[in-house]
Amino acid sequence: VTLAASAGFCFGVKRAIEMAYAEIEKNNGAPLYSYGSLIHNKEVTKDLDAKGLHIIESLDGIDEGTVVIRSHGVGKFLYDALAEKGMRMVDGTCPFVKKIHTIVNEAWNQGKSIIIAGDGKHPEVQGINGWCGNTAIILESPEEAKAAVLDTEKDYAVVVQTTFRQSKFDDMLAILREKGLKMEISQTICSATEKRQKEAMELSQNVDKMIVIGDKKSSNTQKLVEICKKNCENTVHIETICDLVLKTFKKDDRIGITAGASTPPAIIKEVVVTMSEIENVNVEEVSFEQMLEDSLVTLHTGDVVKGTVIQVVGEEVSVNLGFKSDGVIPRGEFSRDTTVVPSQVV
Ligand code: SF4
Repeated sequence: VTLAASAGFCFGVKRAIEMAYAEIEKNNGAPLYSYGSLIHNKEVTKDLDAKGLHIIESLDGIDEGTVVIRSHGVGKFLYDALAEKGMRMVDGTCPFVKKIHTIVNEAWNQGKSIIIAGDGKHPEVQGINGWCGNTAIILESPEEAKAAVLDTEKDYAVVVQTTFRQSKFDDMLAILREKGLKMEISQTICSATEKRQKEAMELSQNVDKMIVIGDKKSSNTQKLVEICKKNCENTVHIETICDLVLKTFKKDDRIGITAGASTPPAIIKEVVVTMSEIENVNVEEVSFEQMLEDSLVTLHTGDVVKGTVIQVVGEEVSVNLGFKSDGVIPRGEFSRDTTVVPSQVV
């Protein structure tokens, strides 16, 4: 079982999630919101909601409390609106995205026109546009760059969405140069996405089966699935271990695992541990398929079962359920009461 080195949370998403949980920990009952979903992962948003951090899409009717900004960032209007209402803000904007906001805002204040290479429907691009009064020219493809009517007398500042493909951006720049534009170009693509995709491609070329973990709606996860399927036809996309049909895996399979940028470490760990257990089963003592079958029929999602606490390591509680692998309960799933310390109650 091989886990891709950069599977799961990127730096920016991890930072925003940690800021949100830290805010929940110290919150004393005041209203707490995230502006848009913090992360494309149902399990995490459900957990955050249960702990008191609720998603809002606008500030209409909201006049008090704290708002957490997601890693994609937001336009200047929200900073101004929160200041005007006297509300607190926890800025989870990824520093790489924040840097683009600064570049765009400074260039705009100097009278330059802004070009953003990216998907105009994506919240990150919409947020960037909000730092130049929503005046940016947004170009999604070389075709759009070709068709754009631009003024060679003007000064342009060009930035690019952090998750944009470098080769596509290079093609667009070549077209804009051909038009003879005066441009200041900022290379603002983040290497995290490219690195994750490259690793997924290499790993999927060398395994029998590939597992991609991530929310079905997460576009970066879908992209990973697409890449892996090109190299490994036995690629499956799962959201959690519950979606995995274990019977389709054999002891000698070489299994590769990767995960989208919004997949929490606990979900990845559960998949890796389960797959590693398959690897370690002694097939001589009992039919592997049979043993797997026997052990799996006893547990289903939603079952309420009794177990024995084996150990508490750090903030994780390990529980023996009579299942092949032990259950691991991370701190965040142990109790809705954020003041509960697992090592003090078990
Ligand atoms: S992909 Fe890069 S820019 Fe986007 S949140 Fe992650 S680290 Fe930040």
